Amino acid sequence: MKLPYIIITDDDIQVLRAIQRDIRNKYRDEYKVAATESAIEALEVIKELKLKNEAVALFITDQRMPEMEGVTFLEQANEIFPDAKKVLLTAYSDIDAAIKAINTVKLDYYLLKPWHPPEEKLFPVVNDLLDEWQALYKPDREATRIIGFQWSQKSHRLKEFLSGNLVPYIWMDIENDAEAEKYLLSADVSKSDLPLVILKDGSIVKDPSLPDLAERVGLQQKARKEMYDVLIIGAGPAGLAASVYGSCEGLKTLLIERSNPGGQASSSARIENYLGFPNGLSGAELSRRAITQTLRFGTEILTPQEVKNINIKDGYKITEMQDGSEIHSKTVVIATGVAYKKLEIAGLENFTGAGVYYGAASVEALACRNESIYIVGGGNSACQAAMYMSKFAKEVNILIRRDALSQVAANYLVENISRTPNINVITHTDVITCSGSTILENITLKNTNTGEEKTVPAKALFIYIGTKPGTAWLNDLVLKDEKGFILSGSDLLKDKSFNTLWKLKRDPFMPETSVPGIFASGDVRFGAMTGISAAVGEGSMAIRFVRKYLQEM
Ligand SMILES: Cc1cc2nc3c(=O)[nH]c(=O)nc-3n(C[C@H](O)[C@H](O)[C@H](O)COP(=O)(O)OP(=O)(O)OC[C@H]3O[C@@H](n4cnc5c(N)ncnc54)[C@H](O)[C@@H]3O)c2cc1C
Repeated sequence: MKLPYIIITDDDIQVLRAIQRDIRNKYRDEYKVAATESAIEALEVIKELKLKNEAVALFITDQRMPEMEGVTFLEQANEIFPDAKKVLLTAYSDIDAAIKAINTVKLDYYLLKPWHPPEEKLFPVVNDLLDEWQALYKPDREATRIIGFQWSQKSHRLKEFLSGNLVPYIWMDIENDAEAEKYLLSADVSKSDLPLVILKDGSIVKDPSLPDLAERVGLQQKARKEMYDVLIIGAGPAGLAASVYGSCEGLKTLLIERSNPGGQASSSARIENYLGFPNGLSGAELSRRAITQTLRFGTEILTPQEVKNINIKDGYKITEMQDGSEIHSKTVVIATGVAYKKLEIAGLENFTGAGVYYGAASVEALACRNESIYIVGGGNSACQAAMYMSKFAKEVNILIRRDALSQVAANYLVENISRTPNINVITHTDVITCSGSTILENITLKNTNTGEEKTVPAKALFIYIGTKPGTAWLNDLVLKDEKGFILSGSDLLKDKSFNTLWKLKRDPFMPETSVPGIFASGDVRFGAMTGISAAVGEGSMAIRFVRKYLQEM
């Protein structure tokens, strides 16, 4: 198997030798290490590697070099290997340049010289970056392949599921990839059987159900224990954080997710406000880290598995799954968050997954290369998606009803958008119809001030118009507000039916619902501060109260 490269550039020969030695000693079994004193020579080397179809995982470069600055080198290297991770070696006096480079070249890390001891200052950083790179790297011969029609709902469902569950795959569009046709011939299937999944072991599945595909790619589908200390429903940031804390504290912890771990956050193209990540990180990356962390502590994760109901027997919780199975636990944390509101336009559902997407910007980004696309909504999520898509699409149009984006989105996003030439903000506008044969082709826009209507070609429409809580399945088990958010802690005391329902002498704990031992955390909880950090905080805190409850049992 070909090994990917780590490229090191530094004009100071002693520094170059030192870092080359450290990196080579540690990573030589999995990576080839190429080092050079000249940035110009390094650029020649990486152009050649590109021609030979080699992979580069990481660039490490000094900032102060006579031929060109490290940041300029990284800018050029990025055009050749855009997925490679980038580290700038800096002296203390260059920190300003390094911080600027976080935005200009999407720098992943700046490493202060000297980096000794490497076990403490160099290897943890490089390990992290290489893990991140590996998670997205798809060596040709080893990856799962999906073959299908680009704008097909069925193909989109499979792609979204695998990418959301961090299973690397290669997408092959039957209409634009000659190799894909060859796979069809050798598997003796016709285009009407698509999408087709070719697994790593060479086996072939036609249009699999998601649980079937999940099982085949090795995702756990059934609970292994008779009884769990805590069962967590929903693997968004709140559920993931609860699972990390639960397992870490030695509780038997099960996490159940109906689609992809990561929740809403997983569709975020770039999270810029999460503590400790000054250059931002994608939702997929945050999920990857959280899943790795929670699995390491021993959490079991079932995905895709949907919870249908919860029954209570002698204080124990019996969770009913959509497939009819039951799981027993002492406590439950509900972290089912919120789901996207649907855009109410006649016929729109026919194109969902075939040009119309709810929050799936990162999955379909490449397919939108050089196309004109539309985003409905102007909140932070919509703006993040627009920024991300602007790197691929020819033109990104944000449709809002208000006068200006600044009325709905955070300042930094409004500023970024105003600086991006291929993003247009179209105000006072609604989408009123959509049309196409089998995939979305046109949408009609209406100016809400003038009433003027205009039909425009649209390859893709991404919808971000708000959310509603995912609690309908709970029926009347726990008290909710009129919108469906779960009441907990002191908010319960204000509800008229609480006194008749609650039988314990103590008041409910802060995240506890009207059923003792069932907790709510994250966006689904009435009064929660929405956002990733808040959800992570709530999920972690829920476990503290789970422990208190378990001590009472
Ligand atoms: C595109 C986008 C970008 C965002 N960017 C940012 C940002 O940059 N910074 C920030 O602070 N916030 C951001 N947010 C908001 C943030 O993502 C949410 O506040 C956060 O994800 C809430 O976490 P949660 O765990 O409470 O719920 P969610 O993230 O909603 O997760 C709930 C999970 O529960 C699962 N689930 C639901 N019902 C069931 C069931 N019956 N059985 C099993 N599983 C179920 C769902 O599939 C989902 O995975 C963004 C949101 C979006 C949509």
